[in-house]
Amino acid sequence: NPSDLSYEKGATARAELIGVEVVKFVLPEDVTKEALIAQIEAINADDSIHGCLMFRPLPKHLKADQDEICNHLAACKDVDCMTDLSNAGVFTGKKLGFAPCTPQACMEILDYYGIDCKGKNAVVIGRSNIVGKPMAMLLLHENATVTIAHSKTQNLAELTRQADVLVAAVGRPKFVTADMVKPGAVVIDVGMDRDENGKLCGDVDFDGVSQVCGAITPVPGGVGPMTISMLLENTLTAAKLQNSL
Ligand code: NAP
Repeated sequence: NPSDLSYEKGATARAELIGVEVVKFVLPEDVTKEALIAQIEAINADDSIHGCLMFRPLPKHLKADQDEICNHLAACKDVDCMTDLSNAGVFTGKKLGFAPCTPQACMEILDYYGIDCKGKNAVVIGRSNIVGKPMAMLLLHENATVTIAHSKTQNLAELTRQADVLVAAVGRPKFVTADMVKPGAVVIDVGMDRDENGKLCGDVDFDGVSQVCGAITPVPGGVGPMTISMLLENTLTAAKLQNSL
């Protein structure tokens, strides 16, 4: 998957920059469930590996078993929230594991710029398990009033115009336009899409929306690089915990 390869390249370069060693396990596309689980168990048993990221979705023949396979990873090495235990932490607010890196990146950006979500209306467009749903939970834990929109949502623009914080995780280039945004709103663009010229862009029409909103994350830049930062921060934290530091 080209976008996975590009993420891998970026993450590896950033990891090496800060002294985190990256080991890649490249398995054949027709890998069996048993062989993949054996690889994960070997990673669990290897004390020199502190965090593991597995690119998903898995190939078609493993799709039905994806959850079961993911749950073989030791929770302490689950730096991008692929196990049920880590997910339970995101939903309960308990520190059971790490949150998925992308929603965590969005929260870090809000925190860094001193944007307090308490009492604010937040709208998240997208309800995937890796971005939309956990994003909504993290905003809820920060006391935002959260609405999750998806492809069956009616009158989407009416809803998004109520948002003080608007998070776009749709997977459609320049989907959010200026007329959908409340003046002064904070807009977080999670999208990693290609425009009509094949250029990387987000789910938000940056040129139009930036005229209306109060703050906006760019694509490229913004959430993408911050996601890698979160992956590395989680890996560092995992290494410390595993070595009782
Ligand atoms: P996904 O699994 O395809 O989910 C997309 C969501 O958008 C779904 O919930 C879908 O609704 C909703 N949607 C689609 N069309 C819609 C419409 N017309 N109106 C309202 N909602 C609509 O995608 P994802 O994995 O969450 O990723 C979303 C975007 O973030 C993609 O561009 C992806 O490349 C990017 N991404 C970026 C990073 C990063 O590091 N920056 C990480 C992960 C993902 P239904 O559920 O009803 O189908």
